[in-house]
Amino acid sequence: MHNKFISGSKEWCALPKLDIAAVKARIDSGAKTSSIHAFNIEPFTHNSNQWVRFDLHPLQKSRRATIRCEAPVIDRRTIRSSNGTTEKRFVIRTPMTLNNQTWEIELTLTNRDSMGYRMLLGREAMNGRMLVDSEESYLHGDVTPEQIDLIYGKAIPVPGAGLKIGLLASNPDLHSNRRIMEAGEKRGHEMVFLDIKQCYMKLDADSPAVHYRDGRILNDFDAVVPRIRPSLTFYGCAITRHFESLGVYALNNSAAITQSRDKLYSLQMLQEQGLDIPITGYANSPNDTDNLIEMVGGAPLIVKLLEGTQGRGVVLAETTKAAESVINAMKSLRANLLVQEYIQEAAGKDLRCFMIDGKVAAAIQREAAPGEFRANLHRGGSATLVDISPEEESLAVKAARTMNLSVAGVDIVRSNRGPLLLEINSSPGLQGIEDATGQDVAGAMIQSIERQLRPAARPTVVETHAREYSEMDHVIGF
Ligand code: ADP
Ligand code: MG
Repeated sequence: MHNKFISGSKEWCALPKLDIAAVKARIDSGAKTSSIHAFNIEPFTHNSNQWVRFDLHPLQKSRRATIRCEAPVIDRRTIRSSNGTTEKRFVIRTPMTLNNQTWEIELTLTNRDSMGYRMLLGREAMNGRMLVDSEESYLHGDVTPEQIDLIYGKAIPVPGAGLKIGLLASNPDLHSNRRIMEAGEKRGHEMVFLDIKQCYMKLDADSPAVHYRDGRILNDFDAVVPRIRPSLTFYGCAITRHFESLGVYALNNSAAITQSRDKLYSLQMLQEQGLDIPITGYANSPNDTDNLIEMVGGAPLIVKLLEGTQGRGVVLAETTKAAESVINAMKSLRANLLVQEYIQEAAGKDLRCFMIDGKVAAAIQREAAPGEFRANLHRGGSATLVDISPEEESLAVKAARTMNLSVAGVDIVRSNRGPLLLEINSSPGLQGIEDATGQDVAGAMIQSIERQLRPAARPTVVETHAREYSEMDHVIGF
C-alpha cells in the first residue's frame, strides 16, 4: 500500500500516453469525475474497439499548442454541470503522472472550457493515493515558461487550431445567441460571450484595446460575431469597429451594420443598384403628406418608422384618411418615417432568405397570423420551407452584396410585378429558419469565419459527428 501524499489544489501533471508532458490540473476532491477540455472529438473504430480522437490545448488560456490525441473509449456518460446543463461525454482511461507516480485514471472529454483549467482531477482519479491541501499549489513542482517553450515550442500559432471567437451581444439566453455559442464550441472553437455594454475601449496610437468590465483585455480574439440590438446600434458598432482596428475579424463589419440599420439609406443603396423595391416616399415636412400618399399610389399604404424592427413600427393605413392621420401623428412626434406602396397580393406572406457570404444558406416563407399583415415571426407569423425562384435568389444575392453583409436576412415580398425587396437585417434570427429547414445555419456562420481566418483549413470532421455519435450509441449500447 502506498502512503498518501499531499497535493495542492493546482498541480502540473503529465499524461504520457497522450503525449502531454505538462498540463496544469485543478485538483478538487469535491468533484467525483475528472475531465479534460477537448475539441474536434471524433469517435472511430480500432481493431473492432471504440476509440476516440480529439485535440487538446494543454496550456491554460492559450491555444498556441494543440496536441492530437487518441484513446480507447471505456464509457459514455451524461454529466450534469453545476449550471444545470447536461452533456453526454466520452470517457477514456489513460495513465497520469504526478509526484513521480504514474497510475491510470478515467477522464471525461468535455468541449466546455468553463472550468478555466484544461484539466480537472476529481476524487475517483485520486485513487486513495493522495490528500488535497486546498491552500497550497504546485507542491510537486512548477513548470517555468522556458520549460513550456521547450515542451510545446515557442508561441507559434498552429494552423487548424480552434479559434477564439467573441459573441458580441446583450442577452446570452436568447435562442439565436445560444445557438451561435453552441455551434462554435461544437466546431472546436473557444466561444466567449461578450456583453456589449460591459465592453469599453481605449483609443491610443500605440496600444489600442478593448477592455471588459471584469478587468480582462479582449485583444486576443480571432473573430467577433456582432449581434447588436437596435437600441445599441451606435455603441455596438463602435465596439465592433474597435475590434476591427485591432485586427479582429468581425462577421458583419461595423460599417455594413451601421448602414443597414438605416432603412432609408439601405433602400437608396438598393435601388441605386437597380434592385426592385416597393415604391417608397420620404419627406420631412407634414405639408408634403398629400403628395407623398399620391406618390405611392394612394391607400391602402404602409407607413414605416426608419428604426423599427420585428414588425414594430410598420403600420397599414387602409384609407387615405387613416394614412393622413397616421403620418401626421408620427410626424408631430418627430418620428422619421417612410411611406410605402402596400403589396396587397402578398397576402401577409413574405420570404426570408438567410444569406451567408453572398449565398442563400436557407430560405423560408413566413405567413402572418390571421388578421395581421406583417409576417414577422415576432408578430406571431409562422414559417414554412419554401423553394425560391432563380429571380428571387438573384435579388437576395445582390441585396446582400450591395449592403456588404456577410450574414444577412433578406426580406422579399412576391408581388404581381415580381419579387420586391423589403429590407435587409444584419442580425437575422436563427430559431424560425433552423426549425423550419432543419439546417445548421449557426454552424454555417461559424464556417464562414473559418474560411476567412484559415483559408487552407483541413477538411472538417464535424458534419459526420451526429451520425457517428448515434451509431456509437447503438454499437456499444451505452
Ligand atoms: P421590420 O424591420 O419591422 O421587419 P419590414 O419592412 O420587414 O420591417 O416589415 C415587416 C413586415 O411587414 C414584412 O415582413 C411584411 O410581411 C410586411 N410588409 C412590410 N412592408 C410591406 C409592403 N410594402 N407591402 C406588404 N407587406 C409589407
Ligand atoms: Mg423584416
